[in-house]
Amino acid sequence: MSQPDDNNQEIWQRFLSVIETAVSPPIFKTWFATTRLLSYDGQEVVIGVVNVFALKQFRVKLDANVRSAFSSLEIPFSSVRYEIITAQNKSTREEVAPSRSKVTRNRPSRHFGDEAFDSGLNPKYSLENFIVGSCNDLAYTACQAIATSPGAKYNPLFLYGGVGLGKTHLIQAVGNEIIRTNPRAKVRYISTETFVTEFLDAIRYKIQGFSEKYRNIDVLIVDDIQFIAGKEKTQEEFFHTFNTLHQANKQIIITSDKTPKNIPTLTERLRSRFEWGMAIDVGLPDFETRAAILKSKATQMGFELDDKVATLLAESIATNIRELEGALNQILAYCEMRGLQPDYEMALGMISSTKKIRPRHITPRQIIERTARYFQVPPTDILSPRRDKHINETRQIIMYLLREELKFSFPKIAQEVGRKDHTTAIHSVNKVTKEIALNATLRDQIEDIKEKLYV
Ligand code: ADP
Ligand code: MG
Repeated sequence: MSQPDDNNQEIWQRFLSVIETAVSPPIFKTWFATTRLLSYDGQEVVIGVVNVFALKQFRVKLDANVRSAFSSLEIPFSSVRYEIITAQNKSTREEVAPSRSKVTRNRPSRHFGDEAFDSGLNPKYSLENFIVGSCNDLAYTACQAIATSPGAKYNPLFLYGGVGLGKTHLIQAVGNEIIRTNPRAKVRYISTETFVTEFLDAIRYKIQGFSEKYRNIDVLIVDDIQFIAGKEKTQEEFFHTFNTLHQANKQIIITSDKTPKNIPTLTERLRSRFEWGMAIDVGLPDFETRAAILKSKATQMGFELDDKVATLLAESIATNIRELEGALNQILAYCEMRGLQPDYEMALGMISSTKKIRPRHITPRQIIERTARYFQVPPTDILSPRRDKHINETRQIIMYLLREELKFSFPKIAQEVGRKDHTTAIHSVNKVTKEIALNATLRDQIEDIKEKLYV
Protein backbone atom coordinates (compact mmCIF):
# COMPACT_ATOMS: atom_id res chain seq x y z
CA MET A 1 0.00 0.00 0.00
CA SER A 2 1.26 3.42 -0.85
CA GLN A 3 1.22 6.15 1.75
CA PRO A 4 -1.05 9.08 0.94
CA ASP A 5 0.59 11.60 -1.39
CA ASP A 6 0.48 14.38 1.17
CA ASN A 7 2.54 12.35 3.52
CA ASN A 8 5.11 11.58 0.83
CA GLN A 9 5.23 15.18 -0.15
CA GLU A 10 5.98 16.15 3.41
CA ILE A 11 8.67 13.50 3.67
CA TRP A 12 10.26 14.78 0.51
CA GLN A 13 10.30 18.36 1.74
CA ARG A 14 11.99 17.26 4.93
CA PHE A 15 14.40 15.12 2.98
CA LEU A 16 15.42 18.00 0.72
CA SER A 17 15.95 20.34 3.60
CA VAL A 18 18.27 17.85 5.27
CA ILE A 19 20.14 17.25 2.02
CA GLU A 20 20.44 20.94 1.36
CA THR A 21 22.44 21.39 4.52
CA ALA A 22 24.45 18.22 4.01
CA VAL A 23 25.79 18.77 0.51
CA SER A 24 27.33 21.76 -1.22
CA PRO A 25 25.09 24.16 -3.15
CA PRO A 26 26.27 23.04 -6.61
CA ILE A 27 25.65 19.40 -5.73
CA PHE A 28 22.24 20.26 -4.40
CA LYS A 29 21.37 22.35 -7.40
CA THR A 30 22.77 20.01 -10.00
CA TRP A 31 21.44 16.75 -8.62
CA PHE A 32 18.85 17.05 -5.89
CA ALA A 33 16.75 20.04 -6.82
CA THR A 34 15.28 18.21 -9.81
CA THR A 35 14.52 14.90 -8.11
CA ARG A 36 11.20 13.74 -6.81
CA LEU A 37 9.87 11.01 -4.61
CA LEU A 38 8.05 8.61 -6.90
CA SER A 39 6.87 6.29 -4.20
CA TYR A 40 7.45 5.21 -0.65
CA ASP A 41 5.50 2.46 1.03
CA GLY A 42 7.24 2.37 4.37
CA GLN A 43 9.83 -0.06 2.93
CA GLU A 44 11.04 0.86 -0.50
CA VAL A 45 11.96 4.38 -1.48
CA VAL A 46 11.80 5.11 -5.21
CA ILE A 47 13.41 8.35 -6.28
CA GLY A 48 12.88 9.88 -9.70
CA VAL A 49 15.82 11.55 -11.40
CA VAL A 50 15.93 13.53 -14.63
CA ASN A 51 18.35 11.65 -16.86
CA VAL A 52 20.79 8.75 -17.26
CA PHE A 53 23.63 10.84 -16.09
CA ALA A 54 21.87 11.71 -12.87
CA LEU A 55 20.91 8.06 -12.48
CA LYS A 56 24.56 7.10 -12.51
CA GLN A 57 25.53 9.79 -10.02
CA PHE A 58 22.85 8.69 -7.63
CA ARG A 59 23.73 5.04 -7.91
CA VAL A 60 27.46 5.38 -7.50
CA LYS A 61 27.92 8.48 -5.47
CA LEU A 62 24.88 10.10 -3.91
CA ASP A 63 23.20 6.98 -2.60
CA ALA A 64 25.06 7.30 0.70
CA ASN A 65 23.82 10.88 1.14
CA VAL A 66 20.27 9.79 0.41
CA ARG A 67 20.39 6.95 2.90
CA SER A 68 21.92 8.98 5.65
CA ALA A 69 19.34 11.73 5.17
CA PHE A 70 16.52 9.20 5.52
CA SER A 71 18.15 7.74 8.60
CA SER A 72 18.67 11.11 10.20
CA LEU A 73 14.98 11.86 9.67
CA GLU A 74 14.21 8.49 11.25
CA ILE A 75 12.19 7.46 8.26
CA PRO A 76 12.35 3.65 8.08
CA PHE A 77 13.27 2.03 4.77
CA SER A 78 14.70 -1.25 3.55
CA SER A 79 15.85 -0.26 0.07
CA VAL A 80 16.35 2.75 -2.15
CA ARG A 81 15.87 2.64 -5.90
CA TYR A 82 16.42 5.26 -8.59
CA GLU A 83 14.43 5.64 -11.77
CA ILE A 84 14.39 8.14 -14.57
CA ILE A 85 11.22 10.19 -14.43
CA THR A 86 8.89 9.30 -17.29
CA ALA A 87 5.35 10.25 -18.17
CA GLN A 88 4.19 6.93 -16.69
CA ASN A 89 5.87 6.93 -13.35
CA LYS A 90 5.50 10.66 -12.80
CA SER A 91 3.07 11.34 -10.03
CA THR A 92 -0.30 12.67 -11.15
CA ARG A 93 -0.03 15.22 -8.40
CA GLU A 94 2.33 17.75 -9.83
CA GLU A 95 5.53 18.84 -8.22
CA VAL A 96 6.52 16.64 -5.40
CA ALA A 97 9.80 18.48 -5.43
CA PRO A 98 9.24 21.80 -3.68
CA SER A 99 10.60 25.04 -4.97
CA ARG A 100 13.77 25.87 -3.17
CA SER A 101 12.24 28.78 -1.34
CA LYS A 102 9.95 26.43 0.52
CA VAL A 103 12.85 24.52 1.89
CA THR A 104 13.72 26.38 5.03
CA ARG A 105 15.75 25.02 7.85
CA ASN A 106 14.17 26.96 10.65
CA ARG A 107 10.57 26.40 9.79
CA PRO A 108 8.60 27.93 12.66
CA SER A 109 6.94 25.24 14.65
CA ARG A 110 3.47 25.45 16.11
CA HIS A 111 4.44 23.77 19.35
CA PHE A 112 7.67 25.11 20.63
CA GLY A 113 9.47 22.58 22.78
CA ASP A 114 7.51 19.57 21.56
CA GLU A 115 10.13 18.44 19.12
CA ALA A 116 13.57 17.01 19.81
CA PHE A 117 16.08 19.73 20.49
CA ASP A 118 16.88 21.40 17.22
CA SER A 119 20.03 23.49 17.20
CA GLY A 120 19.40 25.00 13.79
CA LEU A 121 23.08 24.52 13.04
CA ASN A 122 24.47 23.50 9.71
CA PRO A 123 27.00 20.72 10.33
CA LYS A 124 29.11 21.72 7.35
CA TYR A 125 30.59 24.66 9.24
CA SER A 126 33.44 23.72 11.54
CA LEU A 127 36.34 25.50 13.18
CA GLU A 128 38.56 22.99 11.51
CA ASN A 129 37.56 24.01 8.00
CA PHE A 130 37.73 27.72 8.78
CA ILE A 131 40.92 29.18 7.35
CA VAL A 132 42.62 31.70 9.61
CA GLY A 133 44.41 34.80 8.34
CA SER A 134 45.26 38.17 9.82
CA CYS A 135 41.79 39.48 8.90
CA ASN A 136 39.97 37.02 11.12
CA ASP A 137 42.44 35.61 13.62
CA LEU A 138 41.11 37.65 16.51
CA ALA A 139 37.56 36.51 15.79
CA TYR A 140 38.76 32.94 15.41
CA THR A 141 40.67 33.01 18.71
CA ALA A 142 37.64 34.37 20.55
CA CYS A 143 35.45 31.69 19.00
CA GLN A 144 37.88 29.00 20.01
CA ALA A 145 37.89 30.28 23.59
CA ILE A 146 34.09 30.28 23.63
CA ALA A 147 33.93 26.77 22.21
CA THR A 148 36.17 25.58 25.03
CA SER A 149 34.27 27.29 27.83
CA PRO A 150 31.02 28.91 26.77
CA GLY A 151 29.79 31.77 28.92
CA ALA A 152 33.12 32.28 30.65
CA LYS A 153 34.66 35.02 28.56
CA TYR A 154 33.61 37.36 25.78
CA ASN A 155 29.93 37.46 26.62
CA PRO A 156 28.32 38.54 24.42
CA LEU A 157 30.65 38.05 21.50
CA PHE A 158 29.71 40.53 18.80
CA LEU A 159 31.23 39.83 15.37
CA TYR A 160 30.78 42.41 12.67
CA GLY A 161 31.91 42.89 9.08
CA GLY A 162 30.76 42.96 5.46
CA VAL A 163 28.83 40.19 3.73
CA GLY A 164 30.45 36.96 2.75
CA LEU A 165 33.45 37.24 5.04
CA GLY A 166 32.81 34.19 7.19
CA LYS A 167 30.77 35.43 10.15
CA THR A 168 28.02 32.86 9.80
CA HIS A 169 30.59 30.15 9.24
CA LEU A 170 32.49 31.04 12.41
CA ILE A 171 29.55 31.30 14.76
CA GLN A 172 27.95 28.10 13.50
CA ALA A 173 31.32 26.42 13.87
CA VAL A 174 31.40 27.45 17.54
CA GLY A 175 27.97 25.94 18.04
CA ASN A 176 28.93 22.70 16.30
CA GLU A 177 32.12 22.46 18.32
CA ILE A 178 30.28 22.94 21.61
CA ILE A 179 27.83 20.19 20.71
CA ARG A 180 30.66 17.93 19.59
CA THR A 181 32.40 18.18 22.94
CA ASN A 182 29.19 18.21 24.94
CA PRO A 183 26.32 16.60 23.05
CA ARG A 184 23.85 17.58 25.74
CA ALA A 185 24.54 21.30 25.47
CA LYS A 186 21.52 23.21 24.30
CA VAL A 187 22.83 25.35 21.51
CA ARG A 188 20.49 27.32 19.33
CA TYR A 189 21.39 29.15 16.15
CA ILE A 190 18.88 31.51 14.61
CA SER A 191 18.93 34.15 11.94
CA THR A 192 17.44 37.42 13.10
CA GLU A 193 14.93 37.27 10.28
CA THR A 194 13.63 33.93 11.56
CA PHE A 195 13.60 35.20 15.12
CA VAL A 196 11.46 38.15 14.05
CA THR A 197 9.07 35.95 12.06
CA GLU A 198 8.70 33.38 14.81
CA PHE A 199 8.11 36.08 17.37
CA LEU A 200 5.44 37.79 15.30
CA ASP A 201 3.79 34.45 14.52
CA ALA A 202 3.77 33.58 18.21
CA ILE A 203 1.90 36.79 18.93
CA ARG A 204 -0.42 36.56 15.97
CA TYR A 205 -1.40 32.94 16.44
CA LYS A 206 -1.07 32.96 20.22
CA ILE A 207 1.55 30.22 20.19
CA GLN A 208 2.83 29.46 23.65
CA GLY A 209 6.41 28.95 24.58
CA PHE A 210 8.30 31.33 22.33
CA SER A 211 10.17 33.05 25.14
CA GLU A 212 11.15 29.79 26.81
CA LYS A 213 12.46 28.40 23.56
CA TYR A 214 15.20 31.02 23.56
CA ARG A 215 15.70 31.38 27.29
CA ASN A 216 16.07 27.77 28.44
CA ILE A 217 19.26 27.16 26.55
CA ASP A 218 23.01 27.26 27.07
CA VAL A 219 24.22 29.04 23.98
CA LEU A 220 22.24 31.46 21.84
CA ILE A 221 23.68 32.37 18.46
CA VAL A 222 21.91 35.15 16.61
CA ASP A 223 22.98 35.97 13.08
CA ASP A 224 22.61 39.33 11.31
CA ILE A 225 21.17 41.31 14.19
CA GLN A 226 21.06 44.44 12.01
CA PHE A 227 17.69 43.15 10.76
CA ILE A 228 16.18 43.85 14.16
CA ALA A 229 16.44 47.55 13.39
CA GLY A 230 13.08 49.27 13.46
CA LYS A 231 11.31 46.26 15.04
CA GLU A 232 10.53 47.59 18.48
CA LYS A 233 8.54 44.72 19.92
CA THR A 234 11.08 42.16 18.80
CA GLN A 235 13.84 44.29 20.28
CA GLU A 236 12.06 44.29 23.58
CA GLU A 237 11.60 40.53 23.53
CA PHE A 238 15.22 40.07 22.60
CA PHE A 239 16.30 42.41 25.38
CA HIS A 240 14.63 40.16 27.97
CA THR A 241 16.02 37.03 26.36
CA PHE A 242 19.45 38.57 26.46
CA ASN A 243 19.18 39.49 30.13
CA THR A 244 17.89 36.11 31.21
CA LEU A 245 20.69 34.29 29.45
CA HIS A 246 23.41 36.71 30.43
CA GLN A 247 22.46 36.65 34.08
CA ALA A 248 22.66 32.88 34.04
CA ASN A 249 26.14 33.08 32.43
CA LYS A 250 24.87 31.52 29.26
CA GLN A 251 26.83 32.32 26.15
CA ILE A 252 25.44 34.77 23.61
CA ILE A 253 26.98 35.24 20.17
CA ILE A 254 25.77 37.90 17.78
CA THR A 255 26.79 38.98 14.29
CA SER A 256 26.01 42.08 12.34
CA ASP A 257 27.17 43.85 9.22
CA LYS A 258 28.01 46.89 11.32
CA THR A 259 28.99 47.87 14.86
CA PRO A 260 26.24 48.25 17.49
CA LYS A 261 26.70 52.00 17.25
CA ASN A 262 25.93 52.02 13.56
CA ILE A 263 22.77 49.93 13.61
CA PRO A 264 20.01 52.45 13.07
CA THR A 265 17.07 52.59 15.48
CA LEU A 266 18.54 50.09 17.89
CA THR A 267 17.28 50.92 21.37
CA GLU A 268 19.92 52.34 23.64
CA ARG A 269 19.59 49.55 26.18
CA LEU A 270 20.19 46.83 23.60
CA ARG A 271 23.06 48.76 22.11
CA SER A 272 24.73 49.07 25.48
CA ARG A 273 24.31 45.36 26.15
CA PHE A 274 25.86 44.46 22.84
CA GLU A 275 28.84 46.50 23.94
CA TRP A 276 29.23 44.67 27.27
CA GLY A 277 31.35 41.88 25.90
CA MET A 278 33.74 41.85 23.02
CA ALA A 279 33.16 43.34 19.58
CA ILE A 280 35.47 42.04 16.89
CA ASP A 281 35.69 43.00 13.28
CA VAL A 282 36.01 40.38 10.52
CA GLY A 283 37.73 41.67 7.40
CA LEU A 284 38.48 40.56 3.86
CA PRO A 285 41.18 37.87 3.78
CA ASP A 286 44.41 38.70 2.00
CA PHE A 287 45.34 36.98 -1.21
CA GLU A 288 47.12 33.98 0.35
CA THR A 289 44.25 33.31 2.72
CA ARG A 290 41.78 33.52 -0.16
CA ALA A 291 43.77 30.97 -2.13
CA ALA A 292 43.94 28.69 0.90
CA ILE A 293 40.18 28.92 1.40
CA LEU A 294 39.62 27.94 -2.23
CA LYS A 295 41.89 24.96 -2.00
CA SER A 296 40.23 23.73 1.14
CA LYS A 297 36.72 24.20 -0.28
CA ALA A 298 37.62 22.30 -3.41
CA THR A 299 39.05 19.45 -1.37
CA GLN A 300 35.90 19.23 0.69
CA MET A 301 34.00 18.82 -2.54
CA GLY A 302 36.29 16.08 -3.75
CA PHE A 303 38.42 18.05 -6.20
CA GLU A 304 42.07 18.89 -6.38
CA LEU A 305 42.67 22.58 -7.10
CA ASP A 306 46.18 23.27 -8.28
CA ASP A 307 48.02 26.39 -7.17
CA LYS A 308 47.74 28.14 -10.51
CA VAL A 309 43.97 27.88 -10.53
CA ALA A 310 43.66 28.94 -6.89
CA THR A 311 45.98 31.89 -7.54
CA LEU A 312 44.05 32.99 -10.58
CA LEU A 313 40.72 32.93 -8.78
CA ALA A 314 42.03 34.52 -5.59
CA GLU A 315 43.64 37.32 -7.60
CA SER A 316 40.62 37.96 -9.76
CA ILE A 317 38.00 38.07 -7.05
CA ALA A 318 38.76 40.25 -4.09
CA THR A 319 35.30 41.28 -3.00
CA ASN A 320 34.29 38.58 -0.55
CA ILE A 321 34.53 34.87 0.07
CA ARG A 322 30.99 34.17 -0.96
CA GLU A 323 31.66 35.46 -4.47
CA LEU A 324 34.92 33.60 -4.60
CA GLU A 325 33.14 30.44 -3.61
CA GLY A 326 30.44 31.13 -6.18
CA ALA A 327 33.07 31.18 -8.93
CA LEU A 328 34.65 28.01 -7.61
CA ASN A 329 31.27 26.30 -7.44
CA GLN A 330 30.56 27.19 -11.04
CA ILE A 331 33.81 25.67 -12.16
CA LEU A 332 33.34 22.57 -10.05
CA ALA A 333 29.76 22.06 -11.19
CA TYR A 334 31.02 22.24 -14.77
CA CYS A 335 33.76 19.71 -13.99
CA GLU A 336 31.36 17.46 -12.14
CA MET A 337 29.00 17.27 -15.06
CA ARG A 338 31.76 16.47 -17.51
CA GLY A 339 33.91 14.31 -15.29
CA LEU A 340 36.88 16.72 -15.54
CA GLN A 341 39.34 18.19 -13.08
CA PRO A 342 39.52 22.00 -12.92
CA ASP A 343 42.41 23.50 -14.86
CA TYR A 344 43.83 26.92 -15.58
CA GLU A 345 42.27 27.45 -19.01
CA MET A 346 38.87 26.49 -17.76
CA ALA A 347 39.15 28.89 -14.83
CA LEU A 348 40.38 31.66 -17.09
CA GLY A 349 37.48 31.14 -19.44
CA MET A 350 35.01 31.15 -16.59
CA ILE A 351 36.44 34.31 -15.10
CA SER A 352 36.56 36.32 -18.27
CA SER A 353 33.04 35.32 -19.19
CA THR A 354 31.53 36.17 -15.82
CA LYS A 355 33.68 38.99 -14.63
CA LYS A 356 32.19 42.33 -15.39
CA ILE A 357 34.77 44.47 -17.04
CA ARG A 358 33.89 47.75 -15.50
CA PRO A 359 34.62 50.86 -17.52
CA ARG A 360 36.91 53.14 -15.63
CA HIS A 361 34.59 56.09 -15.80
CA ILE A 362 30.94 56.36 -15.37
CA THR A 363 29.58 59.85 -15.43
CA PRO A 364 27.07 61.53 -13.13
CA ARG A 365 24.90 61.91 -16.21
CA GLN A 366 24.81 58.10 -16.63
CA ILE A 367 23.86 57.60 -13.01
CA ILE A 368 21.04 60.10 -13.29
CA GLU A 369 19.70 58.75 -16.57
CA ARG A 370 19.91 55.07 -15.76
CA THR A 371 18.46 55.39 -12.28
CA ALA A 372 15.66 57.63 -13.51
CA ARG A 373 14.88 55.19 -16.28
CA TYR A 374 14.91 52.31 -13.78
CA PHE A 375 12.21 54.02 -11.73
CA GLN A 376 10.43 55.29 -14.83
CA VAL A 377 10.96 58.95 -14.11
CA PRO A 378 11.97 61.31 -16.93
CA PRO A 379 15.55 62.47 -16.21
CA THR A 380 14.49 66.10 -16.68
CA ASP A 381 12.15 65.75 -13.69
CA ILE A 382 15.11 64.80 -11.53
CA LEU A 383 16.76 68.13 -12.29
CA SER A 384 13.50 70.07 -11.99
CA PRO A 385 12.14 71.56 -8.75
CA ARG A 386 9.33 68.96 -8.67
CA ARG A 387 8.93 67.25 -5.32
CA ASP A 388 6.36 64.51 -6.06
CA LYS A 389 7.05 61.51 -3.83
CA HIS A 390 8.21 59.20 -6.58
CA ILE A 391 10.47 61.79 -8.20
CA ASN A 392 11.86 62.83 -4.87
CA GLU A 393 12.71 59.28 -3.84
CA THR A 394 14.39 58.57 -7.14
CA ARG A 395 16.41 61.77 -6.77
CA GLN A 396 17.52 60.68 -3.30
CA ILE A 397 18.70 57.32 -4.60
CA ILE A 398 20.61 59.11 -7.35
CA MET A 399 22.34 61.25 -4.73
CA TYR A 400 23.21 58.13 -2.80
CA LEU A 401 24.69 56.52 -5.90
CA LEU A 402 26.67 59.65 -6.77
CA ARG A 403 28.21 59.41 -3.33
CA GLU A 404 28.75 55.64 -3.35
CA GLU A 405 29.97 55.14 -6.88
CA LEU A 406 31.73 58.41 -7.65
CA LYS A 407 32.65 59.55 -4.12
CA PHE A 408 31.41 63.05 -4.93
CA SER A 409 31.37 65.75 -2.24
CA PHE A 410 27.95 66.77 -0.94
CA PRO A 411 27.99 70.21 -2.61
CA LYS A 412 28.88 68.57 -5.92
CA ILE A 413 26.10 65.98 -5.50
CA ALA A 414 23.58 68.74 -4.84
CA GLN A 415 24.77 70.63 -7.88
CA GLU A 416 24.46 67.56 -10.15
CA VAL A 417 20.76 67.18 -9.35
CA GLY A 418 20.04 70.87 -9.60
CA ARG A 419 19.93 71.64 -5.88
CA LYS A 420 21.62 74.59 -4.24
CA ASP A 421 21.79 73.39 -0.69
CA HIS A 422 24.30 70.66 0.10
CA THR A 423 22.44 69.64 3.29
CA THR A 424 19.77 68.17 1.01
CA ALA A 425 22.45 65.83 -0.32
CA ILE A 426 23.63 64.89 3.17
CA HIS A 427 20.10 64.19 4.27
CA SER A 428 19.32 62.12 1.16
CA VAL A 429 22.43 59.99 1.37
CA ASN A 430 21.84 59.28 5.07
CA LYS A 431 18.22 58.50 4.50
CA VAL A 432 18.89 56.01 1.72
CA THR A 433 21.72 54.41 3.71
CA LYS A 434 19.39 53.80 6.64
CA GLU A 435 16.58 52.66 4.42
CA ILE A 436 18.80 50.08 2.73
CA ALA A 437 19.56 48.48 6.08
CA LEU A 438 15.86 47.99 6.73
CA ASN A 439 14.36 47.40 3.36
CA ALA A 440 15.38 44.35 1.38
CA THR A 441 13.50 45.40 -1.74
CA LEU A 442 15.32 48.69 -1.92
CA ARG A 443 18.59 46.89 -1.31
CA ASP A 444 17.91 44.61 -4.29
CA GLN A 445 16.82 47.50 -6.49
CA ILE A 446 20.01 49.40 -5.78
CA GLU A 447 22.14 46.35 -6.47
CA ASP A 448 20.25 45.95 -9.71
CA ILE A 449 20.86 49.54 -10.73
CA LYS A 450 24.55 49.27 -9.89
CA GLU A 451 24.80 46.22 -12.14
CA LYS A 452 23.12 48.13 -14.97
CA LEU A 453 25.38 51.14 -14.52
CA TYR A 454 28.39 49.24 -15.68
CA VAL A 455 27.05 47.34 -18.66
P1 ADP B 1 28.95 36.15 6.28
O1 ADP B 1 28.09 35.49 7.30
O2 ADP B 1 30.04 36.98 6.89
O3 ADP B 1 28.18 36.91 5.26
P2 ADP B 1 29.57 33.46 5.52
O4 ADP B 1 29.98 32.89 6.83
O5 ADP B 1 28.24 33.09 5.01
O6 ADP B 1 29.74 35.03 5.50
O7 ADP B 1 30.70 33.06 4.47
C1 ADP B 1 30.46 32.96 3.09
C2 ADP B 1 31.14 31.72 2.58
O8 ADP B 1 32.54 31.87 2.66
C3 ADP B 1 30.80 30.49 3.40
O9 ADP B 1 30.59 29.42 2.54
C4 ADP B 1 32.00 30.26 4.27
O10 ADP B 1 32.18 28.89 4.53
C5 ADP B 1 33.12 30.82 3.41
N1 ADP B 1 34.21 31.39 4.22
C6 ADP B 1 34.35 32.66 4.60
N2 ADP B 1 35.47 32.84 5.30
C7 ADP B 1 36.07 31.63 5.36
C8 ADP B 1 37.28 31.14 5.94
N3 ADP B 1 38.11 31.95 6.60
N4 ADP B 1 37.58 29.84 5.79
C9 ADP B 1 36.77 29.02 5.12
N5 ADP B 1 35.62 29.41 4.54
C10 ADP B 1 35.26 30.69 4.66
MG1 MG C 1 26.04 35.57 7.42
